Amino acid sequence: MTTELTTDCAIVGGGPAGLVLALALLRHGIRVAVLEKHADFLRDFRGDTIHPSTQDLLAELGLLDEFLTRPHDDMPRVTFSWYGTELTLADFTRLPTRRKVMTFMPQWDFLDLIADTAAQHPEFTLLRSTRVDGLIRDGDRIVGITGTGPGGDFTVRARLVVDASGRDSDIRAEAGFVPTGVASAMDVLWFRIAKTAGERYPFIQAGSGLIITIDRGDFFQIAHVIPAGAWRGTDADLAAMKDRIARISPRMADAISAVTASDVHLLRVRLERLRRWFTDGMLCIGDSAHAMSPAGGVGINLAIQDAVATARILGPVLRDGTPTTADLRRVQRRRNWPTWITQFVQRRLQGPLIAERAPDAPLPFPLRMLRDHPRLTHVTGRFVGLGALPEKL
Ligand SMILES: Cc1cc2nc3c(=O)[nH]c(=O)nc-3n(C[C@H](O)[C@H](O)[C@H](O)COP(=O)(O)OP(=O)(O)OC[C@H]3O[C@@H](n4cnc5c(N)ncnc54)[C@H](O)[C@@H]3O)c2cc1C
Repeated sequence: MTTELTTDCAIVGGGPAGLVLALALLRHGIRVAVLEKHADFLRDFRGDTIHPSTQDLLAELGLLDEFLTRPHDDMPRVTFSWYGTELTLADFTRLPTRRKVMTFMPQWDFLDLIADTAAQHPEFTLLRSTRVDGLIRDGDRIVGITGTGPGGDFTVRARLVVDASGRDSDIRAEAGFVPTGVASAMDVLWFRIAKTAGERYPFIQAGSGLIITIDRGDFFQIAHVIPAGAWRGTDADLAAMKDRIARISPRMADAISAVTASDVHLLRVRLERLRRWFTDGMLCIGDSAHAMSPAGGVGINLAIQDAVATARILGPVLRDGTPTTADLRRVQRRRNWPTWITQFVQRRLQGPLIAERAPDAPLPFPLRMLRDHPRLTHVTGRFVGLGALPEKL
């Protein structure tokens, strides 16, 4: 038997874009259903960054105090260790935001907070363990989605379908969207290392590639940026990785000795975007519209800002009727150029991020500029902390 549901807006994907959009639309009194293929938000390999502008948004939603009760780490500056020399990459201390810090919180805690708040609205439905696999059309217009959940097959009919299911979206392909992009110059290896009492590492260490260390309480989550295609999972690749890491961070050499190839997860980085984010009845936002690289740690912020702009533009339309393609185009017009500019900067950063340089080689040009002109760290702080075009509800 097929379960049928009717709502105003059906959102595919309960990531940062999908859940923030849901909560922002609920404030307009609109019925929203979010369909998420996983049972929970527990995913290790996602960014944990909650940007200063996102924290302003949480304040607008009345959630900032609650957010700050959850375990988190605040970072007023992004610092960087180049073979042991400390540099500041981005400084948030002069931002025009309530909190002038980048906050690290496991993404599942952040998403739980948004989902729990949305669940207080009777107009909200969150279907977990529910994979969307098809579209319902009425002529050329998309009028709903189909999928499978714990109770079997289901259909959701809606005046608007929003695809927020990330960079590997199937439903986007089903609607005929094909992203275009440039090949990424880098991939990311993720693994955990055990934490010994009192051991701390700089957030970013660089030299021969880049190591990012996230303190997860019981262990360190390591992201190691490598040239694209350099990891095939062989013993030789593992030895080369350990050798590179030991050169950048000799202190880490012992801790990584126990890591095996099967502990290492490869995340292929993609930099893509859609030429057109919408079709009649459906809009793509977040990584579905534009897959972001981890460079600069801005993808979550961009996805959330897409969601906020979408709710602000389409909320009033959905309250009174059905969005037209002209309404959906307004969202893309608003968010297209911040996306373009962010991806442009990410492309430019890739070279310096993966370059192999000897300890006595000169600093790469962008790092030299930041070292010699420290005021520039407030400009990079604005770009990372606020994004190219910050949005308000
Ligand atoms: C290696 C790596 C590291 C990164 N680190 C950072 C960082 O530190 N900071 C930062 O800001 N950005 C980072 N990014 C980018 C960031 O992760 C993304 O830009 C951001 O998560 C996009 O959010 P989203 O909501 O659009 O998509 P996602 O976060 O991908 O969420 C999509 C959701 O849709 C669900 N879904 C998918 N298909 C279906 C389906 N068919 N049916 C139902 N549900 C479905 C998924 O389970 C998922 O929950 C990183 C990216 C990479 C590749």
